[in-house]
Amino acid sequence: MRPLSSDKSAKTYMPRTASPAKRATKAAKKTAKTAKKIVKKATKKAKTAARRVAGKRVYFFGPSGTEGKRDQKLLLGGKGANLADMTTSGFPVPPGFTITTETCAEYNSGGKKLPAGLMDEVAKNVRKTERATGKKFGNAKKPLLLSVRSGAAVSMPGMMDTVLNLGLTDEIVEAMAKTNDRFAYDSYRRLINMYGDVVVGVHHHYFEEAISAMKKARGVEEDTDLTADDLKKLCGEYKKVFKKHAGFAFPQNPEKQLELAIEAVFKSWDSDKAISYRRAEGIGNLAGTAVNCQTMVFGNMGDDCATGVGFTRDPSSGENKFLVEYLVNAQGEDVVAGIRTPKGLTAMKKELPAMYKELMSIRERLEKRYRDMQDFEFTLEQGTFYMLQTRNGKRTGRAALKIATDLLKEKKVDQKQAVRLVTPGHLDQLLHPAFQPAARKSAKVLTSGLNASPGAAVGKLAFTAQDAKQRAESGEAVILVRRETSPEDVDGMHAAQGILTSTGGKTSHAAVVARGWGKPCVCGAGAVEINASKETATINGKVYGPGDFLSIDGTTGDVLDGEVPTQDPEPDRNFKKLMTLADKFRKLNVRTNADTPADSKKAREFGAEGIGLCRTEHMFFEPERRGPMREMILATTTKGREKALKKLLPIQRKDFAGLFKAMKGLPVTIRLLDPPLHEFLPHVDQYKEIELIAGNTGVTPDEVRARITALHESNPMLGHRGCRLAVTYPEILRMQVRAILEAALQVGGNIVPEIMIPLAGTDKELSYLIEHLHDEAQQVFKAKKKKCKYLVGTMIEVPRAAITADQIAAQAEFFSFGTNDLTQMTFGYSRDDAGVFLREYVDKGILPEDPFQSLDQSGVGEMVRIGVEKGRAARKGLKLGICGEHGGDPSSVHFCHEVGLDYVSCSPFRVPIARLAAAHAALK
Ligand code: PEP
Ligand code: MG
Repeated sequence: MRPLSSDKSAKTYMPRTASPAKRATKAAKKTAKTAKKIVKKATKKAKTAARRVAGKRVYFFGPSGTEGKRDQKLLLGGKGANLADMTTSGFPVPPGFTITTETCAEYNSGGKKLPAGLMDEVAKNVRKTERATGKKFGNAKKPLLLSVRSGAAVSMPGMMDTVLNLGLTDEIVEAMAKTNDRFAYDSYRRLINMYGDVVVGVHHHYFEEAISAMKKARGVEEDTDLTADDLKKLCGEYKKVFKKHAGFAFPQNPEKQLELAIEAVFKSWDSDKAISYRRAEGIGNLAGTAVNCQTMVFGNMGDDCATGVGFTRDPSSGENKFLVEYLVNAQGEDVVAGIRTPKGLTAMKKELPAMYKELMSIRERLEKRYRDMQDFEFTLEQGTFYMLQTRNGKRTGRAALKIATDLLKEKKVDQKQAVRLVTPGHLDQLLHPAFQPAARKSAKVLTSGLNASPGAAVGKLAFTAQDAKQRAESGEAVILVRRETSPEDVDGMHAAQGILTSTGGKTSHAAVVARGWGKPCVCGAGAVEINASKETATINGKVYGPGDFLSIDGTTGDVLDGEVPTQDPEPDRNFKKLMTLADKFRKLNVRTNADTPADSKKAREFGAEGIGLCRTEHMFFEPERRGPMREMILATTTKGREKALKKLLPIQRKDFAGLFKAMKGLPVTIRLLDPPLHEFLPHVDQYKEIELIAGNTGVTPDEVRARITALHESNPMLGHRGCRLAVTYPEILRMQVRAILEAALQVGGNIVPEIMIPLAGTDKELSYLIEHLHDEAQQVFKAKKKKCKYLVGTMIEVPRAAITADQIAAQAEFFSFGTNDLTQMTFGYSRDDAGVFLREYVDKGILPEDPFQSLDQSGVGEMVRIGVEKGRAARKGLKLGICGEHGGDPSSVHFCHEVGLDYVSCSPFRVPIARLAAAHAALK
C-alpha cells in the first residue's frame, strides 16, 4: 500500500534507511519483472489475435482437431471456450462447433440478417461433425441430431434460447422408431415443442395443454408414464398445435431447421428478459451470444440412460460436498425446469455405479483444470458418459469465501486466484441481514422447502413478477411466491426481497438465479399451495394474500409466519482470511466515511485504515444538538452566532475526541461544516420549533420566521454552503478548528488531524480561510501551551477546482475528491432530484448507469484525472483520496486505482467491498 504520512501501513514500504545501492538493485529487478510481464502479455495478445482468423465465424471442436481455446471466452462465449478446452483436455465431449459472438453482433447490426456465407461455413462444420460421429445430418439411417444452445462470455442462466433434438423429421422419426419407438417419439415431441416455442414463438403452454390432456386421458401423472404409442399420438397433436399457432407446418428440412434455430438464438440476445438480466447484473460491452451446435447424446433412450447437472462443491454453503442431481430416462431440461424431482449421488451409487465412479473422477479433473468450483451438465447414453458443458458455478457469498479459502488450502489455487474467486457482490451478500436469533427461535415455522440460497427475507406476498416489481419500486418489501420461476420472472425476482417456490430442486431456475444475486430463496416447498390468479398461498389450511407477511430462511429452507426481525451479519473466519489476502495485493488504502465513534469502530472492524470523511454537520442531526446549530445559523449578529458557537464547541470537542480515540492513531479527516441550509432550518409553519428557537435566542417568533424567509435559497445545493459559509462567518470555522485541535491535544499520542475545507472553487477562498485556520490554531497552542501537527486540505467538488488544481494545490496539503457534488456539478444533475429521470436515462441506454452510483469515468472521471495530474505537478507528495459514494463502488474503485489515488473512503459496510475491489484492480 502507498504510505500516508500517519498510516501504520507506511512501515510495509522499503525503509528509508535502505542503502541507495540496495534500492537501485531492487528497483532494477522490479523494472525487469514489469518489462517481462509486458512482453508476456503482448505475446499472449498477439497469439490470441493470430488465432482469431479474420472472417472466421465458426470454430469446430472434436477429436479431429479443435479450433477454439479456453481464453477465447469473449469470442466463443464461456460455454464454447470450455467445450473446446474440455475436448482438447480429454473430457468425453460430443463433437460440434461454435458460432462466434461477433457473428451475433454482425447479425444485430446488419438488420437482423444472418451474414452472407455463414450457413456455408456452418454446413462445412456439420460435415466435420458427421465425420467425427459417423452419423449424418438429415439421414434416416444414422441420423445426426444437434443441440443448438446459446452461450455468452458471461453466463446468463436460462436467459437465452436452446433447441434440442434438431434434425428430426417425420421420415427420420419413423426410421428411428423401428429400433426404439418410445425414445424416437419422445425426442420428436420435445423438438416440436421447443422449436415451436423458441424459434417460431408458439407459446409453451399450448403444448403443455396437449400433454396434460393426454396424461389425464391415460390416468397417469408423469411424462415417463406415457407409452410409445401415446407419444406418437402426442407428436401428431403437437404438430397440429404448431400449425395452428405458427400458421405453417413443422419444417421437414433439417438445414432450414438449423438456420432458423441459429437465428433464434441470436435474436434471444436482445429479448426483454436477457436485457433485464444484463442490466440487473451490470453486464455491458459484450458483443452478443455465441451459438453452440453440438451432437445430441440422449439421456432418454431407456433406463441405462440419464441426464443431470452437478456442482463440484455445494454452491449454497461452499462445503466440499459434491452435489449432483440426475434423472433416469430424461433430457437435460427436465432437471433444470424442476418438472420431476431429481435424485442425488446416494441413489446413483446404487442405481448407476459406473456413472457414479466416472463422476467422482470428473469432479477432481474439473477443479484442477478450471481452478474453481464448476457447474456442469452430463448425459449417460446407453452406458456411455458425456460431458455437455462446464462453467464456473454461481454461488452465494458465504460459499464463495469457503470455496476460495478451501481451494487455497487444498493447493488447487494460489493466493491471487483465491482473491479473484470472490467478487464484491459476494461480500455484499454477507453484509446483508440475517434473522435475530431469539426471534428466529420463537418464529412459527409453517413449512420447509429446499435451502436454495441463504439469508433472511421478509416481505408481503407478490404472486407475479410484475406485481413484485411494481410494489418494490414503490418501496414495499415483497416476497415473490411462484409455483416455479422462469426466466420471464427475473425482473420481479430481482426486485423482491426473496423468492419462494413450491416446486423445483436446488438447480432449478429460481435457485440458480437467486444464488447469483444473493437473494434468499426457498425452493420446492410443496406444502405451499399457490393460486396465482386468486393471489393466495395456502399453507396448512391457512390462506395468505398480498397483504400478508411471510419470512423465509434461505439458509435452512424454513418458511416462517409473519415478519421476523433481522440483524446485521457477523463476518466469519473465511471472510477474515480472504480479506487479509486481499490486503496483501491492493495498492489503494481504504478509509471510511464516519461521523460517530460507533461508526468508526464498526468500520475499523471491517478493516478501515482511517477516516476519509467526517461530515461534521451530521453530528447535529439529533434533536438536542439541532437546537444550538439552528441558533447559530439563524443568528443575525456575530455576537448571537458566537453565543451559539460557544454551546457547540464542547459538543464538537467531545465528538472529535471520541473519533480520535476510536481510530487509535489512524488518520482522521474532519471536514469543516458544509450544511446545505435547507437541511437544518425549520419550515416557517413549524410553530413549536420556531417558538423554541425564539425562546433560546431572545427574539420573537416573527423575527425567527423573517430570518428563515431571508435565508431561503432557490438552489440550496449551489448556495450558501461549504466554504462559502465560513467565508461569510469565519467564526464558525474558528470554533471547529479549536474543537479539533483541543480534542487532539486532549487525546494525545501524536494525532495529526487532517482538516478539510469543503466545496472550494478558487485558491483565494482557500487562502482566506487557511489564514483564519492557522491563526486560530496558534491561539489554541498558545493557550494550551502544547502543539500538535495538523494538515490542511480541501475537497475537490467543484469543476473549477479540478481544472485549477495546480493553484488549489498551492494552498492545500491534500485533496479529497467529493464525487457526489462533482458529479452534480459536472453533469448539472441535481443530486436530490435526478433519480426521477436518471432511471429513464439508464433504461433508454442514454447513460450506462446512474452516475451518482458508479463514477462516470469519461466525464467526471476526467475531472478527477485533471485534478490528480495538475495537483501532483504543483505539489509533490500531495495526498489524494475520494470520499463520494463512489468510494465503495467496485468499478469506481478500479478507476481510483488506475488514476493513482492514495485511498478511497466509503461507508463502514462497504469497506470490505472496497478492499476487495482494490485488490482486484491491482491483480488485473
Ligand atoms: C461529495 O460531494 O462527494 C461529498 C462527499 O460531500 P457530501 O456528500 O457531504 O456533499
Ligand atoms: Mg459534497
